[in-house]
Amino acid sequence: MIPATFDYEVAESPEHAIALLGDQEEAKLLAGGHSLLPAMKIRLARPSLLVDVGRLTELSYIREDGDRIAIGALTRHRDLHEDDLLKEHCPIVAYAAGLIGDPQVRHRGTIGGTLAHGDPASDLPAVILALDGELVVRGADGERTIPAGEFFEGVFQTAIAPAEMLVEVRLPKLGSQAGWSYLKLTRRAQDWATVAVAAVVQRSNGSIGQASIGLTNMGATSLRAATAEDAIAGGAAIEEAAALIAQGTDPPSDQLASADFRRHLIGVIGRRALEEAASR
Ligand code: FAD
Repeated sequence: MIPATFDYEVAESPEHAIALLGDQEEAKLLAGGHSLLPAMKIRLARPSLLVDVGRLTELSYIREDGDRIAIGALTRHRDLHEDDLLKEHCPIVAYAAGLIGDPQVRHRGTIGGTLAHGDPASDLPAVILALDGELVVRGADGERTIPAGEFFEGVFQTAIAPAEMLVEVRLPKLGSQAGWSYLKLTRRAQDWATVAVAAVVQRSNGSIGQASIGLTNMGATSLRAATAEDAIAGGAAIEEAAALIAQGTDPPSDQLASADFRRHLIGVIGRRALEEAASR
């Protein structure tokens, strides 16, 4: 339970952090530390240098940017949960952030850390996927924007290059015809999700014409339920579409649930999430 030896530097700006990252191949950013430090203690991660970005308050913000909401990477889960702009324009993010861990975890963990970590059991990746968000990463040569659908590449693997830093998350504002739901199934209160569903739907004339469905803990990455989404777009009823939600997934078997049980559960809570989104 003791990490391997590492060096430690405090970054004074995002540029300073990026320069420090470029200095050593095995350097890693330290944000809230609530995923990285446990991984270091079991030697799953062995960075040679920790670049502490936790004090970069300029990357902690939630603001309007035209028809989008921009969120700084160092924004803590607790601030996402409490924020009025998010509650008005992207309420699914504020709601899901309030379901992460316990108050201590929410006061330390950051949106940038949870997305960059690439854990398929984390809550916010499926939400950002369902919203078709964009992630802005910065390196020595400038910034690039990555659609959420291209960001998650494997277990603990994302499209962020080793000497890049995630600096901002951009989300479209949900319009008045949008409905949403995030349903997280846990064995005990404050647990990680056994499975979870993020549903964002567009309503017209009392029915849903389009749905974006993000899935938590149903494969090597958070993912979209593309078959079920196509069914909704083709006019299928919620129950019919929900029966297709597990298609294309490859859930793990672990102490919480077998892969087969996860496929069953995701159909059940997927139907409930779509029903809630349609009526909310
Ligand atoms: P860190 O641990 O500091 O970093 C994680 C990884 O991301 C590291 O590799 C780091 O180098 C990298 N990184 C961090 N910031 C950046 C950046 N800006 N750019 C590029 N790379 C970066 N999460 C859930 O979703 N749901 C839960 O129910 C949940 N329960 C938890 C319960 C406990 C007891 C604990 C300890 C954690 C739990 N978490 C849960 C995880 C929590 O949300 C973490 O805080 C989060 O996953 C990581 O955020 P962090 O800021 O702590 O990142």
